[in-house]
Amino acid sequence: MQADTLADLLGTLIRNECVNDGTPDSGHEHRSVDALAGFLGGPGRIFEPHPGRQSVLYRVAGRDRSAPRLMLMGHLDVVPADATGWAYDPFSGEIHDGFVWGRGAVDMLNITTTMAAVFKRYLTQEVPQPPGDLLFLAVADEEAGAKLGAHYLTEHHWDELACEYVLNEVAYPALSVSEITAYPVNVGEKGPFWRTLASSGTPGHGSQPYGADNALVPLARAMAGLAEAPSPVVISDEWRTFVDGLGLPDATAAAWLDPEQIDQVIEDLAAESMGLARYVHACTHLTVSPNLMEAGIKANVVPETGRAEVDFRALPGQDGSTVDGHLAKVLGADRDRIRIDPIMDHEASSSPAKGPLWDAIVDSFESLAGSRRVVPTLTPVTTDLRFFRDRGVVGYGVGWYDDRIEFPEFLAMFHGRNERVSVESLHRTYELLDRTVESFFKRIS
Ligand SMILES: [Zn+2]
Repeated sequence: MQADTLADLLGTLIRNECVNDGTPDSGHEHRSVDALAGFLGGPGRIFEPHPGRQSVLYRVAGRDRSAPRLMLMGHLDVVPADATGWAYDPFSGEIHDGFVWGRGAVDMLNITTTMAAVFKRYLTQEVPQPPGDLLFLAVADEEAGAKLGAHYLTEHHWDELACEYVLNEVAYPALSVSEITAYPVNVGEKGPFWRTLASSGTPGHGSQPYGADNALVPLARAMAGLAEAPSPVVISDEWRTFVDGLGLPDATAAAWLDPEQIDQVIEDLAAESMGLARYVHACTHLTVSPNLMEAGIKANVVPETGRAEVDFRALPGQDGSTVDGHLAKVLGADRDRIRIDPIMDHEASSSPAKGPLWDAIVDSFESLAGSRRVVPTLTPVTTDLRFFRDRGVVGYGVGWYDDRIEFPEFLAMFHGRNERVSVESLHRTYELLDRTVESFFKRIS
């Protein structure tokens, strides 16, 4: 596989601008489903729950119908990007300085690209028929809750999607802490518990506010309180495994695992790297981000209604009651004035870091990167893996990058500016996935 073949396909997927703004008529993933048909030499099984919102499934049947099935799954949609603040047009897909630039370069068109290239070797019989089925699924609508993508497909077409193992996102670069370099593999993700907060008041003239029943005030107080209050800490088994895997010096590891010391650890990290501090904070706390608030109509009218949306993310061991308990505590007396409704409730999910797919990943890192320091990692973001883990599937996210962009900067590129991936990293991820699929099939045969 030539690296430029990968860069070409990635550039095409970026230029297809499958921008998902949350509305059903956005996305246009049919463009990239067409591009994949061109790349793979023919169409797959297309699902289209809404015009233009296509997902596509390809399959190479295994020799043995009872052998475990492995799916490579990537999403085709991306979040919007405003060209302001970007060094290059976010939808150019051009190469500059050895990087492919554009929205989706790391989330996750790079992985979708390399998965397509690995799958193509099996589809074209460049490598012998595997023991179990190998599936390639490119999905729509990951960026807006997957109701027109993986959620829809797992609900309505599980008979066609069924598998035991999935590779997906998030594929992290190597992580260096205390002079130790480790390769994080995503084995679990936090659970989104989004809430709306609504308040009501009595309209009146803005010139005489004394004693006014202003809907904005309790809501603003709640939002500020939620942003500032310390949130519940959990040292989960997943976090423990991650810290153990890093191989930090004993005293450092002990502090990273101590709920009493973790906030100091995060404060110290923030002085060095805000990106890493944010990551460690998210992996050890219920996170609370007040992200939307609207109230009122005009400068001289006391607002009658107010509405806000808050993004809570729960760790393994936390659930809706953790979220609601925290809300009640922070809102205090205002709790009675604010109605709270769920937008989304999904508990954290994870897969065990053991078994044939895990072992295949570790072996591949050893043979390619010369290291077995592969650490099971939680991701604070939500991925399509949650729908598969709910059905008992083992799912991970993995990639292999060069060291031109470090872990904290990498995290900032997700939904951020100047998203890019080096051509070398595309090539490496291709090698790693190819080796992992091969090693997986060897292990189960
Ligand atoms: Zn993604």
